[in-house]
Amino acid sequence: MNRSLFEGGFGGGGGAPAIPAETLARLKEAAGPGGWIDDPALMGRYVTPFRDGEPGRTPLVLRPDSTERVAAILRICHETRTPVVPQGGNTGLTMAGLPHPEAREVVLSLERMNRIRAVDPLNDTMTVEAGVILAEIHRAAEAVDRYFPLWLGAHGSCRIGGNISTNAGGVHVLRYGNTRQLVLGLEVVTAEGEVWDGLRALRKDNAGYDLKQLFIGAEGTLGVITAAVLRLYPRPGEHQTAMAAVPDPAAAVALLAHLRGMLGEAIAAYELMHRNCFILAERGLGHPDPLASRPEWRVLFDLEGQGTPGSLRAPLEEALAAAMEKGLVTDAVIAASEAQRRALWQAREEMAEGLKIAGPILSHDVSVPVSRVPEFIERADRAVTAAAPGLFLCTFGHVGDGNIHYNPVAPADWPAERVKETTREVARLVHDIVMELGGSITAEHGVGRSRLAEVAHYKSPVELDLMRRLKRALDPHGILNPGKVVPME
Ligand code: FAD
Repeated sequence: MNRSLFEGGFGGGGGAPAIPAETLARLKEAAGPGGWIDDPALMGRYVTPFRDGEPGRTPLVLRPDSTERVAAILRICHETRTPVVPQGGNTGLTMAGLPHPEAREVVLSLERMNRIRAVDPLNDTMTVEAGVILAEIHRAAEAVDRYFPLWLGAHGSCRIGGNISTNAGGVHVLRYGNTRQLVLGLEVVTAEGEVWDGLRALRKDNAGYDLKQLFIGAEGTLGVITAAVLRLYPRPGEHQTAMAAVPDPAAAVALLAHLRGMLGEAIAAYELMHRNCFILAERGLGHPDPLASRPEWRVLFDLEGQGTPGSLRAPLEEALAAAMEKGLVTDAVIAASEAQRRALWQAREEMAEGLKIAGPILSHDVSVPVSRVPEFIERADRAVTAAAPGLFLCTFGHVGDGNIHYNPVAPADWPAERVKETTREVARLVHDIVMELGGSITAEHGVGRSRLAEVAHYKSPVELDLMRRLKRALDPHGILNPGKVVPME
């Protein structure tokens, strides 16, 4: 028999009361055979943060395989006031899908709800359960000659319920919007354990409040998503990828406007990167910089179209030549093959890994209006360099939608206390600038636990009050992912 954390009188951390053994037994029964884990030795991937951070603890991981079982579990949690942490692939970067270290919550993993329920190519929709891995959705869409454009580095392990619950962004927001724009319907289990069947495959539906929007981006604090209707697109027949050196971030923003003027909606992704990111990737992973000129700033961008392969090549060359004449581009490469295209994107995707190897990352996932990105970078660099000399500034991001991952890296030999203090100080500086520019302190990763204090600090009393009233209305006992997203005090 599995050993429970709570056997032998273990009462959880922080003086919190243990979940009674009787409740745990009822939850196991509701989850069904093979539907739970209570052996701490088998819980590693459910309680370990993807990046740095203290691991969580839980007496029980529940892994139901149907909506009915999720509903039965939540009815018990509601009745017994047992806190529950919904979880998808646990790739989130704000500790949102992790239980607290005090072991007061059960984890509800949706990983076994992994069926594709229906594909309708003529309606351009796919109905999937919450636990389907994003990469599988891409493959299923391709199998019917369609395209699901949500794309992020964690696509091989994040799950669509997690993507929807974080309103994930990724590299294609510029053209297709974020996850919110890609969801037409949802099936949700409420905090009380009722099932709301909102699996509508409609592009027009004005029959009252658009309830699904409440659950998208709620990070599991308002309900548990069990299935979704996703919007599909025609599969692009043509791709072009280019990396272009630009004089500075202002030129990067001007280049985007120039390219959109000449190429229109074909621009699907547009990323800005500083040289320091490549230096760390080279040091840590041994991957050489793809641009021999090693510019201080560059952009990587993708064009997608419905034309025949190669049809966007000449328009792209023309647009880049015109940009060079205007002084917006100083050097550029266009991928000549799929392998080269992959190599350019790999350099971008592995950047985070290079940073991680180099030292502690003071990560910020912020957004400002696209036109104000250059001002943000200039002001943040100045303020951070003055306040905390010694940080290595590694800035990159989805600049096409105003989202910058502003990630100074601390020297590996800084003591933990110094890193902690500097992290706090730098976050305040960076976020103050973001707010002055009309931006957001979390563009795509969400609030979770990591940004909870910042939300309390920056949101207006009216906005905080509205959030709390919504939370209390949909989760009266506060059992859904407590201590995340909504600062209750
Ligand atoms: P989890 O981490 O398991 O959970 C995330 C949140 O959703 C938690 O609050 C959890 O409680 C809740 N949740 C999960 N499933 C459900 C459900 N069924 N019902 C209700 N609540 C639920 N994010 C971006 O936006 N853009 C990027 O470009 C990006 N790139 C990344 C690259 C890497 C290498 C990594 C590791 C992460 C990246 N992320 C990015 C962050 C992360 O992948 C996304 O937030 C992703 O959407 C999380 O999905 P998940 O299944 O792992 O969710």
